[in-house]
Amino acid sequence: MKIVVLPGDGIGPETMAVAVDVLQTVAHRFELPVELDHDVTGHTSLKRHGATVTPSLLQKVRAADGLMLGPTATYDFKDESKGEINPSKFFRKELDLYANIRPARTYAGLQNKFGSFDLVIVRENTEGFYADRNIASGGSEMLITPDVVVSLRRITRLCCERIARSAFVLAMERGKHVSIVHKANVLRVADGMFIDICRAVASEFPEVRVDDFLVDAMMAHVVRAPERFDVVVTTNMFGDILSDLTAELSGSLGLGGSLNAGDNHAMGQAQHGSAPDIAGQDIANPFSLILSAGQLLAWHGQRTSQTRFVEAANAIEKAVAEAIVAGECTRDVGGALGTAATGRAIVQRLALPISMGKS
Ligand code: NAD
Repeated sequence: MKIVVLPGDGIGPETMAVAVDVLQTVAHRFELPVELDHDVTGHTSLKRHGATVTPSLLQKVRAADGLMLGPTATYDFKDESKGEINPSKFFRKELDLYANIRPARTYAGLQNKFGSFDLVIVRENTEGFYADRNIASGGSEMLITPDVVVSLRRITRLCCERIARSAFVLAMERGKHVSIVHKANVLRVADGMFIDICRAVASEFPEVRVDDFLVDAMMAHVVRAPERFDVVVTTNMFGDILSDLTAELSGSLGLGGSLNAGDNHAMGQAQHGSAPDIAGQDIANPFSLILSAGQLLAWHGQRTSQTRFVEAANAIEKAVAEAIVAGECTRDVGGALGTAATGRAIVQRLALPISMGKS
């Protein structure tokens, strides 16, 4: 499995260094043929190549089996004509990574005010209210007069259908329950179509229970009783916002793993941003990126029927859960370790022979 590794900006390099150690450790322990190809994106690439991403990088990523993308300073990248391209948008769009899978669960050992839960947000990833990826060229945010802006939201039958199918397939492997999150009381046509398509796909999965929630009410439901959700399917912007909330409810934004998957490519990517407020201080939580690396291995294992990759992904999740119980984690999740020391602790756990693995 060839994986291109792009550390990104801010806390990207320090958290990606840990994720790389974890990947190398599980590759050794589970005898996975993993080959890492290190390259650059974000500000480093902008300085070195005049653009945050380059055509040759895209070519390399297309030829690989997966990509690990660290958080990038996307807010800094405003002018594509100066090479300031949002790398996250770029890869999601170019590789058609339409399903953003964002699990959130509570962990033993972490104080939780909201009860235990284990859910997954399945977020459409290629259209919606993301004006910078809605159209083939040009801008879909328009300055009509200096005081009037119109931002387009695109919803298509194809994208609704494939994200709905991703959610129902996932639900069949989990608790057989899909919640559709929308705003069809206001966005009657677009979100009305989204619901109709989700319900049509649901008819192919009669074992799966289906309900739906308005996105504003969902914010209350998920805080009040997150345990009632299993798989939540929603459009792009709603999913982005909702998944930061569920990650934080699970203990920290730094715990939110995230996989961007298409039919032929996938990208592991931390759920959080480049966190410039804590960059370079060795305090960032590396678990989000580590868990995303696990998701990438599992994705590859499932599509190539190589169970060792899935076992490695499970071992990563188990090691993170155990590290939290042992307090071997960063301070945002109640520990006292720095980023690098947290990484060393996880690597130590993962390097143990399987029979000696603590539970
Ligand atoms: P952020 O997600 O970077 O940070 C939000 C808050 O969470 C901050 O207080 C930060 O310190 C904390 N946090 C984030 N990750 C953490 C971690 N791993 N461990 C501990 N604490 C963590 O959001 P922001 O500060 O609004 O954005 C910073 C930059 O990141 C912006 O340029 C934004 O556009 C970009 N961004 C990039 C991505 C991405 O690359 N996928 C996603 C979101 C934001």
